[in-house]
Amino acid sequence: LIQLAIPLNFIGFVYREIRQGLTDIEHMFDLLDVQAEVVDKPDAKELMIDKGAISFTDVHFAYDPARPILKGISIDVPAGKTVAVVGPSGAGKSTLSRLLYRFYDVQGGSITVDGQDVRDVTQKSLRAVIGMVPQDTVLFNDTIAYNIRYGRIEASDSDVEAAAEAAQIADFIRSLPEGFRAMVGERGLKLSGGEKQRVAIARTILKAPPILILDEATSALDTKTEQEIQAALDIVSRNRTTLVIAHRLSTVIHADEIIVLKDGVIAERGTHGELIDRDGLYASMWSRQREATQAEEQLKRVRESD
Ligand code: ADP
Ligand code: MG
Repeated sequence: LIQLAIPLNFIGFVYREIRQGLTDIEHMFDLLDVQAEVVDKPDAKELMIDKGAISFTDVHFAYDPARPILKGISIDVPAGKTVAVVGPSGAGKSTLSRLLYRFYDVQGGSITVDGQDVRDVTQKSLRAVIGMVPQDTVLFNDTIAYNIRYGRIEASDSDVEAAAEAAQIADFIRSLPEGFRAMVGERGLKLSGGEKQRVAIARTILKAPPILILDEATSALDTKTEQEIQAALDIVSRNRTTLVIAHRLSTVIHADEIIVLKDGVIAERGTHGELIDRDGLYASMWSRQREATQAEEQLKRVRESD
């Protein structure tokens, strides 16, 4: 009996490890479809997490040496604060999150979490403290409960439901004939982009990481869905060190600092108010988005009055 019990425990352990590993792999595919190139140092230590302060110091990075992407970027995200990164497509915004998650190593400068260089700690301990809500969530061919529980596999049913509640997706799930046991994914119920994103948010709420990376969806969500997602994101980022990669500038107004990335350097930085007053790149992005939103709303009103 004892002989049997040990291997079973061990199998349970390995199973959990593999599942945790899959979460990481899944994140990796969400960020970009590339194999992790970095390996732990032989003497890598566990990250000692305190409050999750992040510092990028003079970071240089290129995927291809002939084409530098980041040319000396310094950003501090103090513990519990929110820093937003905006800028044109291809500016290197998502690259910052990949470097923090350590899919790649910087080629100059450093990235630290609570003062520890991410290259000196195990990837596992680093990734355990970071929650990522990616641009495009891929769901597993399993129940919706399973997909949420992925954030913390030992979570109880009531924890899963509370996370769904906070992510503003619980009512939708309860409206399904099979509720939390409804099958989703390729071979199940097809969820909309906004619904999938809220499942990812619920998963992250369950994981409750000290550090959060939000890479917002580019796809134009309707205003109501956007507001619901925003409310869910506000809940999850409260009191957490948060790096937001923002496409919709409406979501960064309250950020403690906004970084405008362009051509590999920080073109502007400051709060929303400061950047509007400055009347530069951010201000012009802001007025362009406002015009687009207003045009969209006007079009909707015209359609509705038909
Ligand atoms: P953003 O998120 O600001 O739109 P990214 O950080 O995703 O931009 O990408 C920055 C630049 O790096 C882009 O020009 C992109 O094409 C390039 N890039 C991204 N990933 C890779 C890669 N794996 N190999 C080569 N180039 C890449
Ligand atoms: Mg991106």
